[in-house]
Formats: sequence, C-alpha cells, structure tokens
Amino acid sequence: VHPTAVRRPHAITVQSENTAYTDEHITSKFFNRGAEVKLTEGQYLVTPTVQEYQFQTKRAISKTGLLMIGVGGNNGSTLCATILANRHNITWHTKQGIQQPNYIGSLLRASTVSLGQDATGADVHVPISDVLPMVHPNDLVLGGWDISGVTLDKAMQRAQVLDYDLQRQVAPHMALLGKPLPSIYYPDFIAANQEARADNLIPGEDKQAHLEHIRADIRRLKAENGLDRAVVFWTANTERYADIIPGINDTADNLLAAIRASHSEVSPSTIFAVAAILEGEPFVNGAPQNTFVPGVIELAERQKSFIGGDDLKSGQTKLKSVLAEFLVNAGIKPLSIASYNHLGNNDGHNLSAERQFKSKEISKSSVVDDMVNANRLLYKAPEAGAKGKDGKDAKGEHPDHVVVIKYVPAVGDSKRAIDEYYSEIFCGGRSTINIFNECEDSLLATPLILDLAILTELLTRVQYRKVGTDDEFKPLYSVLSLLSYMLKAPLVKPGTEVINSLNRQRNALESFLKACVGLEGSSDLLLETRIW
Ligand code: NAD
Repeated sequence: VHPTAVRRPHAITVQSENTAYTDEHITSKFFNRGAEVKLTEGQYLVTPTVQEYQFQTKRAISKTGLLMIGVGGNNGSTLCATILANRHNITWHTKQGIQQPNYIGSLLRASTVSLGQDATGADVHVPISDVLPMVHPNDLVLGGWDISGVTLDKAMQRAQVLDYDLQRQVAPHMALLGKPLPSIYYPDFIAANQEARADNLIPGEDKQAHLEHIRADIRRLKAENGLDRAVVFWTANTERYADIIPGINDTADNLLAAIRASHSEVSPSTIFAVAAILEGEPFVNGAPQNTFVPGVIELAERQKSFIGGDDLKSGQTKLKSVLAEFLVNAGIKPLSIASYNHLGNNDGHNLSAERQFKSKEISKSSVVDDMVNANRLLYKAPEAGAKGKDGKDAKGEHPDHVVVIKYVPAVGDSKRAIDEYYSEIFCGGRSTINIFNECEDSLLATPLILDLAILTELLTRVQYRKVGTDDEFKPLYSVLSLLSYMLKAPLVKPGTEVINSLNRQRNALESFLKACVGLEGSSDLLLETRIW
C-alpha cells in the first residue's frame, strides 16, 4: 500500500482568539491590509488601510461529483483511470520497475505550505490539502458527457496516454463507468475533423430542449449518486470563439432568450454553463473559448452560482508566467517571446483548424501583460487617452509575442514546446534564453482538473462577512478567480485586474486558505533571522 494512500492528515488547530471551531464551522477573523495611494502635486500620498472580515467554512465535505463534458477524451479518460488506479491501489510494471499510483502534479495533494516554525526555528510544512477540509480525489464520483459514445475503457485505450500494464488492470473498472452520456454537438463550433467521433448526440436542434436535457442530467446524476455538489467541468474540445452580439449574449435575459430562440451563436459550452448555473452547481471551463460571454457572467451573479476558467495552464504557459516575471522583476527587458508547439493528440487535431487555434492563441497571449504593465521603467506607458488600431485603449510598449501550434500525429500526447525569450540587458546587450519542453500533456492536465474541482467544492463552503457592513455571512463572488493558478487565461471579476504571475496566484490562494483558519499568509520577511 502506497504510504500516501493511507496517510491521515494531522488535524490543524489554530489557538487564537481569531479562530473558533464548532462541529459545523471554522470561523476566523481576518484583517485585510492594503494601502490607498493618491498622486497629488507631484507626490504619492500613501495611506495604510485595514478592513476586518470574518470567514466561515463549513467543515463537512460535500459528497462531490465531477461531471466532465468530454469525459471520453484524453484528459477525461486519463483522469478517470488514474483516480481508479489510486482508489484501488493498482500498481503496474513499466520498463523502470513497479510504478505506484500517486497525485504528483496536484498543487493541493503534492505541494506544501508552511504553518510556522517549531521550537528549533525550522519551518513546519503540511500538504495544502490539510489546511482546510477538502474532498479527497479518490472520493469524487465520476461521470459526464461526450459526443463520442465509446465506453471509457476503450476511450482510455484510444487516448494512448497510460502504460499498457496500467490500462490492462484498470480497464475492468473503467468499463463499469460505461458510456458517456450523449452530448450537444453544434458542428460549427469545433473543427470539422471531429465529425467522425460525433456518434453520441442529444437529438434535435432546439437549444432550449438541449438546455433542459442537460439540467435534467445534472439533477439525475445528483439524485442517483446522493451528491451534495456536482462540479460541471468542460474538458471537451476547444470551440471557436462565439461572437458577442448585443441583444443575444450580452445580458443574462438576452442569453436565455437566445437559447429559447436556438440562436446560432450560442455554443454547446455556454449551454452547459447555463445549465450548471441554473441548477446551482459550479461550472469550470478547462478550454480556451469564451464560454463565459457577458450574459453567462451576469446569470451566475444573479443566481449566486460559481464559475471559473479559462483553459488549463499545464506546460508552456505555466513556465512563461514564471520566466517572464523573473526577467521583468530582475530588471531585464524581454523584447520578444516566441512560442512554438507541436502535438499529436486529438486536441492538437482540433486545434489545427484556424478558428479553434485562434481561441488557444488568445488564451495564451495575455500571460505577460500584468508583468509588463507593472514595470514602466522598462516598458513605456501608453500616452494618456491613446487608442490602439482596434479603437480600444492603447496598450503601451510591449514585447513581441507570437504563438504557433502545429499538429504532428506521430508524437501523440507528448507535446513539444519551444520558447525563445530575447531580452535587452545592460547597456545595449542582448540575452537569449531557449527552452525546450517535452511533456505528456494529459498527465500534466489531469491533476489540474482535480485541483480545480476540489478547490471549487471547497469555495462553495466558504462564506464571508465584512465586519461593520454585513450582518450575515454570504457566499464568495461568483467568478472564482482564486482558481487562477491552474488556468491560462484567468477569468476575474469584470473590471478587476487579471493576475498572471504564478507566484502571486499561489500566494493569493495560500493566503486565502490560511485566512480561513485565522493565520497570516506566507511571510518571507523572517525578521527574527535578520535582527540581533
Ligand atoms: P480530447 O480531444 O482528447 O478530448 C476532448 C473530448 O471532448 C473528445 O472525446 C470529444 O469527443 C469531446 N467533445 C467535443 N465536443 C463535445 C461536446 N460538445 N460535448 C461533449 N463532448 C465533446 O482533448 P484533451 O486532450 O482531453 O483536452 C481537452 C480540452 O482541454 C481541450 O479543449 C484542450 O484544449 C484543453 N486543454 C488541454 C490541456 C492539456 O494539457 N491536455 C491543456 C490546456 C487545455
């Protein structure tokens, strides 16, 4: 038995007047400290601010379903198979020896945070998943939809991701998951090369009927499995962008009317998102398309439902959000970032079509924006009021950034990515960093899906109260931007800044989880090591 499979977490009890425990809840006090800055007569006037909040986390973990759209794809089938391998403790032979199942690559289950220091001054680290009660991935109830009706054991075989000896042993368990539920297929939204797979469809073209069908599926899966929570997760093919059309998808009511009228710009992913929202269940988008048209966001706000996205951040972009930040924060000026990838799985096949590639290109392209905007010593700010060619506010100086994706069937799920960072250094010098990254795509993506589902479930159990303003606890804001660490193009509250820096995303998450138990976020000041 693998040791991590039986490890029981040590309960964490915070002894402080800021933290209270009951059987039902953990309640904490949190002081949100910031500073307000005004530029007046050539000087910055900075006023420290503090606002007291309370957080209340329900301790009972929901019985949670992970309902994937695209469950028969590489990510979906790999996720099911690896959970089953972990759950049934299946070990398998590889040419290196015996391999045991694990959750490596999961931020929650395979990385740690420091709780503080012990008597000797050494940091005490715990898995992130121990900070608050979270669902164990082995306990997730699995299910979902696919336009391909292949049973999940065969879907795993088709994906060609896992070692044969694991596939062989896990296949009977996968077979029990059966065939994915039929799904919605609007051929215009995914590449034409996917058509041959589409044999498991909800009939008809009536989008309202499709919406009701998916809502009924969610309700039935919840009832049949006794679920308290169903995280609905898009891991299906990347769709093209939907046009944002005033009167059609710009507001919640217009979108609902557009669905009733079966308008052509309503995508399958938007129907699934609306279905989840109306059922009061969270929806996460693991692909890059604009599922969350403005009408979806407004509907989620109105229903107090949760949404998160977009696009899993598994390889190249994750590294880019670290490297670009490292360069810019080191005072070095990237002049160009050129990214090339090729891959040979079905995702790559779908992305070889222009309109689906475009969605991916958009989601990969803004990842350095916040670092660049934060350093106007290196990059000139736009002139006040200047407009770009597209009529929107001008961006200011920016590194050249291109993204190329090619489909090379031979390499299968093993994606290769080459990135060149070409930068200006001291007194006119130049530095070039080349990264060649070879990764098994679905084995990087699967733990991210787990983290997203588990965090989402947790965030549905956390409530907050702004002390002095709110009498009652209320749920978090609908757009779960705390999921950003796992997402390439994080969706945030409209009008607020997107944080792409991986370090800042992780710090935000760690600080939030700690705040919920009444602890301060990570402090790297370590003052006692710097003073007498
Ligand atoms: P995949 O092509 O193997 O699987 C997608 C599945 O979705 C297929 O089985 C397909 O039949 C199904 N599908 C398509 N349209 C559907 C619909 N309307 N309803 C239900 N099912 C539908 O792809 P994958 O490698 O599993 O990736 C899934 C998604 O995740 C893609 O959009 C991809 O861009 C995104 N993504 C993957 C990674 C990664 O590293 N693997 C990273 C970031 C994003």
